[in-house]
Amino acid sequence: MSDVKLLKPDSDFQRRLRSAGGDSLNKCYQCATCAAVCNLSPEAKPFPRKEMLAAGWGLKDDLMTDPDVWLCYQCNDCSVRCPRGAKPGEVMAAVRSYAFEHFAVPSFMGRALNNPAALPLLFLIPILVIGALLFIHTGFDFSPLHAGDVEYRLFIPHGYIEMLFISGNVFIFALAALGLLKYYNGMQRAWGSGQIGFIRAVYETILEIITHNRFEKCDTNRYRKLAHFLIFFGFMGAMATAGLALIAMVVFHYGPPIEMSHPIKWLGNASGIAMVVGLTIVIVQRGGNAERAGKPNYSHWLFIWMTLSVAATGLLTQIMRLINEPVLAYPMYFVHLVAVFFLLWYAPYSQLGHMFYRTIALVYARSIDRQPRALKAA
Ligand code: SF4
Ligand code: SF4
Repeated sequence: MSDVKLLKPDSDFQRRLRSAGGDSLNKCYQCATCAAVCNLSPEAKPFPRKEMLAAGWGLKDDLMTDPDVWLCYQCNDCSVRCPRGAKPGEVMAAVRSYAFEHFAVPSFMGRALNNPAALPLLFLIPILVIGALLFIHTGFDFSPLHAGDVEYRLFIPHGYIEMLFISGNVFIFALAALGLLKYYNGMQRAWGSGQIGFIRAVYETILEIITHNRFEKCDTNRYRKLAHFLIFFGFMGAMATAGLALIAMVVFHYGPPIEMSHPIKWLGNASGIAMVVGLTIVIVQRGGNAERAGKPNYSHWLFIWMTLSVAATGLLTQIMRLINEPVLAYPMYFVHLVAVFFLLWYAPYSQLGHMFYRTIALVYARSIDRQPRALKAA
């Protein structure tokens, strides 16, 4: 009797999965084709068949402590071969979208980022915050700015921007860490403690992320490796650019502006272009070929368009400064700051948070030696 498990179905969870793209989950008749064709699935307790069963039963607690949910890269090899059209790749994506909300601290932020009705409010917050900084600095009198050359520090001082994004991000990432800790502890309770040391598991996971080797195992959507590679390294490059520019200005009293010929500018521009190209590939593939590429849900589209907005407005802000057109340059810079605020301050609650949850799941999977059979065989 001690092996008897009490099932706790959650009908609201089922409803949420259906509305987040998992509307096909009840078509599953457990044939296991999906688990057999998934190259990222391990040999023992393979996914996504068991996740389809858990989702169909509304077993939220099982899925929220399941590392396999994040070991799926939505390549859709399983969805195109499912004989029932149950789309397991999209069900797995719907479970991940729910996880942002489930682990969110505070929880209302997770709900807001998954709810289209909250979008105006989510935009209003950065507009008001950045607008307030603008008012403090200029009193909304822009006539002196329009009379001279474009200089963004005259619009909003860099110290304000640093305060907003550095201190704010420390706070937000501390909240994100609480959610990640909940997830890691939940996996340990449900699946047991790792046998491989945490530091070694982190090191091996970082190497794996850098090489993107799991994407190579996908057959149906081969474009995903290039697209994800460009977006990931573009984003990392943009973050590095912001950090290096800060060091250049504060420590070496260089700029602003930083000259176009400076390596920091090259890095920033290359990163922005990489993100725009990568996101364009995703939009074309997932927008025009949803059956094979996987139909994006609301939170996917929000992340895609906000990331594209950050990259595109960043490049345009620079172009406006070069052509020295104040009437266009300052509003574009304002839009860019609002987009950056949206992406970074809401990161743990949006699809950007997959960077953290997937990394934690990969680390945990390494620690219990749970590796894709395709990589183990290689
Ligand atoms: S999702 Fe499709 S392939 Fe997987 S077990 Fe269910 S019916 Fe079979
Ligand atoms: S979408 Fe790809 S990685 Fe995810 S379960 Fe299906 S086959 Fe595996």
